[in-house]
Amino acid sequence: MKLLLVSLVALVVGTRRVLAGSHVWQPPVSNERSNALARRYFVINDDPSEGDRMPWRNRQIRYCFDKPDDKKALEGLLLAAHDLWLSQGLGSEFTLAEVGDDECKGEKRFDTLLVQSTGDSGRMATFEALPQVDSVIRQSKNPDVRPKMLLTTSTSMGMLDQVKNVAHELGHAWGLYHEHQNPAFWSRGTIHNALGGSVFGPENGGNWRCENLKDYARRMAGGGLIVQNPGSRGYGDRIGMDMLCKDYEFASKAQFSARDYLPMPRVMGVATSAGTSAKDVDWDSIMIYPSGAGAIGDASPGNDQRQPILLKPDGSRIPINGAPSQRDIAAMHKLYGRSKSARGKELLQKAGGTVTSNFKKLYSKSSGHGDDGSSCL
Ligand SMILES: [Zn+2]
Repeated sequence: MKLLLVSLVALVVGTRRVLAGSHVWQPPVSNERSNALARRYFVINDDPSEGDRMPWRNRQIRYCFDKPDDKKALEGLLLAAHDLWLSQGLGSEFTLAEVGDDECKGEKRFDTLLVQSTGDSGRMATFEALPQVDSVIRQSKNPDVRPKMLLTTSTSMGMLDQVKNVAHELGHAWGLYHEHQNPAFWSRGTIHNALGGSVFGPENGGNWRCENLKDYARRMAGGGLIVQNPGSRGYGDRIGMDMLCKDYEFASKAQFSARDYLPMPRVMGVATSAGTSAKDVDWDSIMIYPSGAGAIGDASPGNDQRQPILLKPDGSRIPINGAPSQRDIAAMHKLYGRSKSARGKELLQKAGGTVTSNFKKLYSKSSGHGDDGSSCL
């Protein structure tokens, strides 16, 4: 089920997570508080001096299916998922365009999305948006680091519904991150990257149940993560389960599914307010996991017996949301709403971010595997 990639990917992925220096978590503009729809969402940081992603050009995802069987299994679902976004208010100028293999599978492709089926029991994962023009991703010759979408037809994973699951993945493809991985929501103290929120984390009622993740036992039996060059973070060369449940980078490096829950480094994402409480979370987002996503326990449509991983601060479960929320739609219009000329100017800026040394040192010589895009549970 896991997509194992070569260490080059680990280098690329590790590097893209460590661009330093950020002013993306600035307080909201004064009138933004009054607009609930615009208040909160979490998307790629497309500032080329900080992040390594950029939106699709002309609000169009250009994609192809890897094999004819993938098209047979997924085309209807992909179009239905896009229709679901449109039905919730996404502008009709947002389009999907299937392109030929010459454009989609060429050696230099970085601006198309390759869609693959993982069958009725495989995983889901999607590269968020496109690599920035100056991104190290574009310097890699490894085809596995390029924009890709892996889709399952399983109804026992994620939101227990094929179209909803694909709609969630489509949100990633457009550039949206998981709502719950916004570091502003997580309590500071034990969780790495957390910014002191009152919503998620051990200090908020113990509502982060990492031990309920499906792959927890297997990771524990495997002894955690071995880091060959631990660098200066002082954790030694063996990262145990305790740390894998607290640190997004370590979980990512270990391909442990906590990476799909834990708060991301702040420079990776942009949110539009500094809100840190439960009222700031979009509980209706199609980009927030229901409590059972990735958990032990059986699930089928209408019958979710999975243990909870993440709960609301009051202890109740995060529900399965049926469609993109109004704030999801607002996020899309915000991310893609600027004029082409304004965006073109940004792309001409030279990437000037300083690279933080610790993680680069930590990961560059490691033999472990990285992961591309967001994998979903
Ligand atoms: Zn996801």
